[in-house]
Amino acid sequence: MGVPRFELLEPVTYEEASRLISAHETIPLAGGTAIISMMRQRLFNPSHIVSLHKISGLGGVSPAKSGGLSIGAMATLRSVEIHPAVRSQYPLLSETLSSVANVRVRWSATVGGNLAHGDYRLDPPGALIALGARVRLGSARGERELQLEDFFRGFFETAKEDDEIILGVDLPPTDEEASGHYLKFTSHASADWPCVGVAVYIKENFSGKCESARVVLTAAAQTPLLLEGVDEILSGEAVTEAAAQKVADLTHSQLDSIEDSSGSTWYKREIAPVLVRRALLEAARRKPKARDERRKN
Ligand SMILES: Cc1cc2nc3c(=O)[nH]c(=O)nc-3n(C[C@H](O)[C@H](O)[C@H](O)COP(=O)(O)OP(=O)(O)OC[C@H]3O[C@@H](n4cnc5c(N)ncnc54)[C@H](O)[C@@H]3O)c2cc1C
Repeated sequence: MGVPRFELLEPVTYEEASRLISAHETIPLAGGTAIISMMRQRLFNPSHIVSLHKISGLGGVSPAKSGGLSIGAMATLRSVEIHPAVRSQYPLLSETLSSVANVRVRWSATVGGNLAHGDYRLDPPGALIALGARVRLGSARGERELQLEDFFRGFFETAKEDDEIILGVDLPPTDEEASGHYLKFTSHASADWPCVGVAVYIKENFSGKCESARVVLTAAAQTPLLLEGVDEILSGEAVTEAAAQKVADLTHSQLDSIEDSSGSTWYKREIAPVLVRRALLEAARRKPKARDERRKN
């Protein structure tokens, strides 16, 4: 089925885009991978759409003022996945992005569109939250930013106001003692949406003891779940089987699981701790090269 007719508006600033969105009670268009299929299915039938493609400064990956990395909202998932700085400094993000759909979708889908979509099954928010990302929002009323874990509010519900545009995502500097892993479990085909995804980012000290760790589950609940109490268990400890199991047990009390075609609430509750334990052990096994080399000296 074709896409219904609409008028495409092409502002050149995000403030103008914000005003047009309010005036026409419509939404912005980025890569179109989500919107166009919704329009084809007649789930959404706007008279106007506001394209973000002519707004400068929304794309690309660049060093952030904080010393970390700034990713523009219009950067495609694939361009971020293969960016040299992302591959070398944030391999957890590159690994996670490589698990999304297929290369064709990833060359169109954007980082801003992915987050704004607010689907609880999205893969990238897990890694971004584990890495401590902040999201920048802008509108005709001004700019603001918030921790990404505070952006997701409920089932397809985010903290973004209707007239706000996601401008980008900022990642704090990485630590060369840190390592991570994204474990995506799919119950149908391998290139499918996750049944449950687990992103782990851990920082160990020189003697192999954990200093801090963040564990985030995606697709398991209505919003990405950043497990609480992980540092209390792992801080000062090596990530052993027993320690990883204690962290995995946290999911029992914190996960209010959601049912979908990939798994029942019972199934997701059962599989989530298994994946958390495996993801933690794999992240700990992936010792950064720098740490191993220093230990040898
Ligand atoms: C076949 C297929 C398989 C997929 N599999 C996966 C998967 O395995 N894992 C996964 O994580 N995702 C998956 N996706 C989803 C995909 O990641 C999202 O559709 C995509 O990231 C949305 O980005 P977009 O740029 O195309 O957004 P669009 O379709 O352009 O927009 C999506 C929503 O975001 C809003 N929006 C877009 N940009 C902004 C912005 N900068 N500021 C404010 N609002 C904005 C739009 O108004 C719209 O509401 C899949 C999609 C397809 C089509």
